[in-house]
Amino acid sequence: MGDVDLLRDGLIAFAEDEAPDSNADLDAWVEEAVAAGKEIPEPKTSRAASGPCRLCRERAAVLVCVQCQRDVCREDSWPMMGLCRECAPPEAVEEIRNAAKPRPELGIKWVED
Ligand SMILES: [Zn+2]
Ligand SMILES: [Zn+2]
Repeated sequence: MGDVDLLRDGLIAFAEDEAPDSNADLDAWVEEAVAAGKEIPEPKTSRAASGPCRLCRERAAVLVCVQCQRDVCREDSWPMMGLCRECAPPEAVEEIRNAAKPRPELGIKWVED
């Protein structure tokens, strides 16, 4: 008799564990999905940027980084990507830019004297 009760209780506990019914669980799921490279239909950052930039602490924040959720100013962010400079280092962005734009100077040598 006791064994049956244990099994039933275990199943109930398992079933409850499987259902993410709180916002915290949903947030965790979204983070996991983003980390796995899945596309989330609605962006998690719907709030507006406010207060000072979290990186330079000087200028006013204009953007919330979609990755780290920090408020950052225009100078410390890449508005087109929605990322701050810490999440997208300038070298990486430069690489993307170079890959995207045509290279008219290719093969041309500039005289420097
Ligand atoms: Zn800043
Ligand atoms: Zn960031």
